[in-house]
Amino acid sequence: MRISPDTRTGRNETVNDRLTISTAQLLALFPDEVSARHYIESRRWPNGPRCPVCASDRIGNHSPGLYRCNACGEAFSVRTGTVMERSKIPLRTWLHAMYLLVTSRKGISSMQLSKELSMQQRSAWFLLHRLREACGKNLDTLRGIERITYAELTR
Ligand SMILES: [Zn+2]
Repeated sequence: MRISPDTRTGRNETVNDRLTISTAQLLALFPDEVSARHYIESRRWPNGPRCPVCASDRIGNHSPGLYRCNACGEAFSVRTGTVMERSKIPLRTWLHAMYLLVTSRKGISSMQLSKELSMQQRSAWFLLHRLREACGKNLDTLRGIERITYAELTR
């Protein structure tokens, strides 16, 4: 599932050139919310869920995607502590938006994003604002979905 940079050409590539999956492939990788959550969880917690407050790995799982720390009692999900926190936008939509953001050569407007994701422009603006806030000017250095889901979006 890793999306690797193309190291064969050696030329001055744009972000676009480095991505090796298409939108269709992306959507096939994440056909539903559960697959999107599993992906983000596996990137964030390769060794299983960890408490965002005390870092304990003694975690109880009460319902799908919702966890409680047995050490400090904190309830959390994979969104906690990321730009996706306190947002009702599906994880699948976040992944799709991240993909569109890193693959658009000249950037993407909230209007374009709202069309691509079939959502209200207000929601698209919010999403874009949070992503830009998290990524800053580092968009050029992004190489794959896995980096923006975890490294770049965790703050
Ligand atoms: Zn804890």
